[in-house]
Amino acid sequence: MIVLKSEKEIRQMLEACRISAEALKVAGEAVEPGVSTWEIDRIARKYIESKGATPTFLNYNGFPASACISINDEVIHGIPDKKRILRAGDIVSIDLGACINGYTGDNAATFACGDVSAEAKRLIETTEQSLYEGISKAVSGSRLGDVGSAIQRYCEDRGYGVVREYTGHGIGTALHEDPAVPNYGTPGRGVRLVPGMTIAIEPMINEGKASVKTLSDGWTVKTTDGKLSAHFEHTIAITSSGPLIMTKLK
Ligand code: MG
Repeated sequence: MIVLKSEKEIRQMLEACRISAEALKVAGEAVEPGVSTWEIDRIARKYIESKGATPTFLNYNGFPASACISINDEVIHGIPDKKRILRAGDIVSIDLGACINGYTGDNAATFACGDVSAEAKRLIETTEQSLYEGISKAVSGSRLGDVGSAIQRYCEDRGYGVVREYTGHGIGTALHEDPAVPNYGTPGRGVRLVPGMTIAIEPMINEGKASVKTLSDGWTVKTTDGKLSAHFEHTIAITSSGPLIMTKLK
């Protein structure tokens, strides 16, 4: 069931989204060689809690941290760890959300640790731009297939693999609400978008093949070919005047 939000509810949700975006920025600024993923998680959690919010991911389905931090060939759901020390050349995907006033935000970005390869830069830039290609189609009256196919086409045209097993999602009082928001699809197909829908769009894009596997820790998702992966996400609202990117900082 898709839960539509009133304008008042969207205004309330904006605070959770702003804190989520600020926490992601602070976490991203902490990415540098020698820092552990545990330390980055701690910084994100402290920031969220300093704003009177709670980290949405902490204990969600048993996840043991406030942020998912995934390095290089890790796609999503990497578990922060004192022993995972970032090195120059790594690409670091951070995914986190903050909950306040009963609403949650959700956002992700991939950060370069020190100097990264030209290939890594191109993957990061393409994945981020594909998110905006998808958002540009998230207008009242269009369909989720328009959003997904825009992301898919943009990435596949550049030779990348679009992860199929994980998708974006509706979001509001719960982190994951209906509908699923795939990063692939057919124009004109799928759920029709109407004002009041709030969704997280989150392309997970692989340098090589699209296929992924889950590690024995039960969480970390990696590319099967060992090549890089990047991840960008915004929480947005469909409004009568176009997509409102709720996790975008001014
Ligand atoms: Mg999400």
